[in-house]
Amino acid sequence: MIPRLVVASKNPDKISEIEEILRSLSLTDEIVRGLDWPDIEETGRTLKENALIKARAVVEFTGLPVVADDTGLEVDALGGGPGVNTARYAGPGASYEDNVVRLLASMEGVEDRTARFRTVVALVMPDGVEVTAEGSVEGVITKERRGGGGFGYDPVFEVDGQTLAEMTAEDKNALSHRARALRALAASLGL
Ligand code: IMP
Repeated sequence: MIPRLVVASKNPDKISEIEEILRSLSLTDEIVRGLDWPDIEETGRTLKENALIKARAVVEFTGLPVVADDTGLEVDALGGGPGVNTARYAGPGASYEDNVVRLLASMEGVEDRTARFRTVVALVMPDGVEVTAEGSVEGVITKERRGGGGFGYDPVFEVDGQTLAEMTAEDKNALSHRARALRALAASLGL
């Protein structure tokens, strides 16, 4: 059990998801909120590198144990892309909507719509100990947006007939890439 833990994200959608999952895993007593740190450039070539870059930078800034994640959407018809470029698929500073518009346009007329979300989580401790874990979920890219929940590409990513945005937060957290990665992290810590 980690007494106090920081989630290295400034994305409120992601933070609340991670917090809910961490609570259910009893990985920590307290998730420390309200800290701020300078923006971190995600210069890694892989999800793992980026998760570690974020976690290390926030440990350096806060002096506390930190968990960070990095997620990529891998679409088979796009050769596994956008992958590590998922956040900026429609260009630097792209909004969720910009990215979804670009994805649907890239997939127009494409029959094979299989894809997966992959997340790597990194836990970095102030003493330098680092643990990473990965999780993924298989799905298909829909032809239209469905659902009002979640965030990012959730309205166009379908698992078992429902998009992630049509699921309750609880249902998404039962099967999501992020939840699976955090569960794998907890398991590798013996929790
Ligand atoms: P990052 O891990 O914050 O760099 O996220 C990469 C990109 O994937 C961003 O565009 C996010 O909006 C998107 N993304 C991350 N997690 C999810 C998710 O659970 N559902 C849908 N989109 C996501």
